[in-house]
Amino acid sequence: MSIDVSGLTKTFGDFVALDDVTVSLPTGQLTALLGPSGGGKSTLLRVIAGLDTADRGTVTIEGREATNLPARKRNVGFVFQHYAVFKHMTVAKNVAFGLEIRKRPKAEIAQRVDELLELVHLSQFRDRMPSQLSGGQRQRMALARALAVEPTVLLLDEPFGALDAKVRKELRDWLRRLHDEVHTTTIFVTHDQEEALEVADEIVVINEGRVEQIGSPDELYDNPANDFVMRFLGE
Ligand code: ADP
Ligand code: MG
Repeated sequence: MSIDVSGLTKTFGDFVALDDVTVSLPTGQLTALLGPSGGGKSTLLRVIAGLDTADRGTVTIEGREATNLPARKRNVGFVFQHYAVFKHMTVAKNVAFGLEIRKRPKAEIAQRVDELLELVHLSQFRDRMPSQLSGGQRQRMALARALAVEPTVLLLDEPFGALDAKVRKELRDWLRRLHDEVHTTTIFVTHDQEEALEVADEIVVINEGRVEQIGSPDELYDNPANDFVMRFLGE
């Protein structure tokens, strides 16, 4: 079981954003999708999420053919770089949103929201409005909201990219610990090599729409035969 994409090709006019991408990401793994800006990371994530369709190729999520399923039927949680929060709702209401629209029983929602807020260390902020949170707290809230519906797959597109370096570091450590608790199959997009090395079980390097390298952080970092380090340090 895993996320399997096979032969994914996506063009925008003459431009090839994804060029025959085939990759298999095991269940429970935290994968970093690493590459320079414009490399195709977000496009790949959007195609996996069902927010965009590829020209060719297939997406299989946990053994289930998903290529033609709409996003809402893929059971995918998504967190973007720029906070997609409901500004007029409290933190607790934001986290409850996915459960409310699925009409889950009230008691179940209340309990689940309590658990999630604890998981992301926001229990004491439950009645605040998002505008009263720091950037890092808001992204933790967004993660709790994405996790609320127990997604099969969690897709994080540069979730900490808009934050300053210190908070980013804290959040990446936190995400690593969180993942060790929830084990949700996760793809974490970043163009920051250090972030990928520190957070991921496995790194997939994507550039110009192609998968260039795949390996554990140790494999990629320690292997002098590849230009992994040099490529991104130069940016
Ligand atoms: P990354 O997330 O790695 O920075 P993207 O997947 O966002 O890269 O984009 C890859 C390439 O595809 C970029 O050159 C981008 O300009 C192009 N692209 C992405 N989305 C569209 C679109 N909707 N229309 C036209 N070009 C697009
Ligand atoms: Mg992107």
